[in-house]
Amino acid sequence: MNVLVVNSGSSSLKFQLIATDLERIEQQQDDRICRGEIEGIGGQAIVRIQARSQPAQTFTASLADVAPALQYLIRYLTSDRSGVSEIRSAADVHAVGHRVVHGGELFEQSALIDDQVLKGIEDCIDLAPLHNPNNIKGILAARELFGQAVPQVAVFDTAFHHSLPEQSYLYALPYHLYRRHRIRRYGFHGTSHRYVAFRYRALRGLTREQTHIITLHLGNGCSAAALRAGSSVDTSMGMTPLEGLVMGTRSGDLDPAIVNVIARKEGLSPSEVDALLNTQSGLLGISGLTNDMRELQAELKEHDDRRVRLAIDIFCHRARKYIGAFLASMGGADAVIFTGGIGENSPDIRARICSGMEWAGLLLDAAKNRGTVGREGKISDDHSTLLAYAIPTDEELLIARDTVRVILGEPHPS
Ligand code: AMP
Repeated sequence: MNVLVVNSGSSSLKFQLIATDLERIEQQQDDRICRGEIEGIGGQAIVRIQARSQPAQTFTASLADVAPALQYLIRYLTSDRSGVSEIRSAADVHAVGHRVVHGGELFEQSALIDDQVLKGIEDCIDLAPLHNPNNIKGILAARELFGQAVPQVAVFDTAFHHSLPEQSYLYALPYHLYRRHRIRRYGFHGTSHRYVAFRYRALRGLTREQTHIITLHLGNGCSAAALRAGSSVDTSMGMTPLEGLVMGTRSGDLDPAIVNVIARKEGLSPSEVDALLNTQSGLLGISGLTNDMRELQAELKEHDDRRVRLAIDIFCHRARKYIGAFLASMGGADAVIFTGGIGENSPDIRARICSGMEWAGLLLDAAKNRGTVGREGKISDDHSTLLAYAIPTDEELLIARDTVRVILGEPHPS
């Protein structure tokens, strides 16, 4: 089954085309046909496409919206120059899997999209006004292009955290706010936490029930999750992805009274403060330079800039604090898993986060840590009682696999 995986954002469309089915899933033989991204939708867009191991191709095209962007993609894939022989016409796309950010309390797992599911995703717009409308646009564009007969599946960022107990998901606010407005912690990056947990237990030959771990997704967005017996029991992101760890441009945790102080002192509206916390804070806000960890590390090495050092220190301090908090809240764990652009590729940040964690039995092996970049591997010392692993995430693969399993009515344990 050729599954087109779509992540439709405000002005971008990330995609992968993966050939997979139940047998290939079982044998881990999924075939990644091509991947890419269309950026700058709404104007002169930049299209990057890489077919298998061929060099990436880059084009520019005037693409007004998601629907023409998707049409452009299929036109390109069906053309001879794409090098993708599997797709001769739109009919060779057999299913579409969508990353949907917010499933609220409605969706406990991935769902086959029909009108009722679409309505459910619409009902969650209130909870994710920046994300769900773009996801819906992607779904409608695919429906228009491929027709109703091609099944589409929604894979929710929030679904994996459905297992959070009340004590983890409720805020200490008047209870009626939860009843009236569903104000609670939902958690995000669920597909990523779920994928690396799956890989961890495969690497160690464990069952889901034997999986007691803390997963750290450290990318441009960052979140931590506590998994007991394979299920998420606590997580750092909240009702929105703003809470928790320090991120590229998001503040993460702060005293909620600060919101009012900033509004008053800076003369900003609530939505302007919201934008400041989401887009001008985090690594970018502290350093005053960039949200990009790799650039910050280069800058630190070259100029030892004080604010760059501070940004990195605060980032690592917050991550370490969450490891400690989750160890306490889940009653100990067997391993800490690093993933996401930073978690997968930066031994230095992993070492900084784990430094001083010997009290918890966490000790990295310097050589293994240095040598594990962009690939899976154990990075803790053999004497470490709390293990550490780096595991590259693969949300697209999990979305493709869920799409197949949902369509075929197979169970897809979260
Ligand atoms: P993601 O959102 O998962 O793509 O992650 C993006 C983040 O990962 C950015 O802050 C990148 O600078 C960071 N990143 C990627 N590669 C490296 C690397 N080799 N060292 C440090 N940070 C990296």
